[in-house]
Amino acid sequence: MFALERTYDLDELVRHNMHTHSVCSTYSRREMTLAAMVKKAEEAGLKTLAITDHSDPGDDIDTYANFRMLKEELGRIETPVRVLIGAELSAYGVGKYGEPYFVDKALDFASYSHIHYHLDVWDQPEDRSPRGYAEQNLAVLNALFETDRADNIAHPFAPYKIPGFDEAQKHATLRAMTDNELGDVMEKGERARCSWEIHTRTFFAYPEFGARFFRVGREVGVHFCLGTDAHSLEELDTRGLARRLKAVVG
Ligand SMILES: [Zn+2]
Ligand SMILES: [Zn+2]
Repeated sequence: MFALERTYDLDELVRHNMHTHSVCSTYSRREMTLAAMVKKAEEAGLKTLAITDHSDPGDDIDTYANFRMLKEELGRIETPVRVLIGAELSAYGVGKYGEPYFVDKALDFASYSHIHYHLDVWDQPEDRSPRGYAEQNLAVLNALFETDRADNIAHPFAPYKIPGFDEAQKHATLRAMTDNELGDVMEKGERARCSWEIHTRTFFAYPEFGARFFRVGREVGVHFCLGTDAHSLEELDTRGLARRLKAVVG
């Protein structure tokens, strides 16, 4: 289900941070309590804050228990910010999902990662070339859109985590996917009522891809969400990002 209205106005998109990690995620700063995150969201003028803690197969995290706990905690916080308790779920292979279906449906925001290739549990393509990874990304996403599990795709196509790839191969993975393939999968996501994240870090690291992703998504008419993948309070604040993103998308 779409969490936000469709817009291509970056000044509006930055007012909803849809990818943040609380203390329930490894590598988050200890300051990332729900109360502190909500307070920071208020200061930063956010309208929506989505908490998307990691949920990978084989981790020791009980996503459903954390969801219940955070919902309860949220009930005690008064705020004008719309706070969604979600998770960064895993599509770790074609048709392979980390959580039972009911958990995805219970969450306020089921944001799916398909690129955590650094994890042992994640399926690697048989052909471990840039084109092989591009095809794997498309196959995993196309299978995911046959279901109604995902509300959002977190850091779509981000090539950071591919083991053993250097910077040139990471760029090549993005270029190995054609505009037609990108448009088709984005359209399929839209039909599955799933939004696509403008992952700020990916846009700044791979601006050529960021511009293409935004252009193709707009042509297709997808819903976008913006996320900073915040692991600290400072990263939760989106002020100043619209200007930088406009420079990327042109
Ligand atoms: Zn991730
Ligand atoms: Zn994340």
